Amino acid sequence: MMRVNTSICNYCGACVGICPVNCIFLDETIIKIDEERCIKCGFCIRGCPVGAIVADWWTGGGENEEIRV
Ligand code: SF4
Ligand code: SF4
Repeated sequence: MMRVNTSICNYCGACVGICPVNCIFLDETIIKIDEERCIKCGFCIRGCPVGAIVADWWTGGGENEEIRV
């Protein structure tokens, strides 16, 4: 399962541009990830500048490793 910590997210949109299958949707202060389409590449998790995206399946490294769930 993926989730975006909306208390950390600054809605910069970086993850939207990173996602290779365009399954992240951002509308001002609403952000959603379509997990049906997600291919679990982890690009958004690594690419989020504030570490707001976490996923229970994520085993990669990078800046957000310490907050993975
Ligand atoms: S990259 Fe991170 S901070 Fe930016 S919109 Fe996505 S989840 Fe929010
Ligand atoms: S893990 Fe990859 S496919 Fe899934 S939402 Fe993030 S960037 Fe998109």
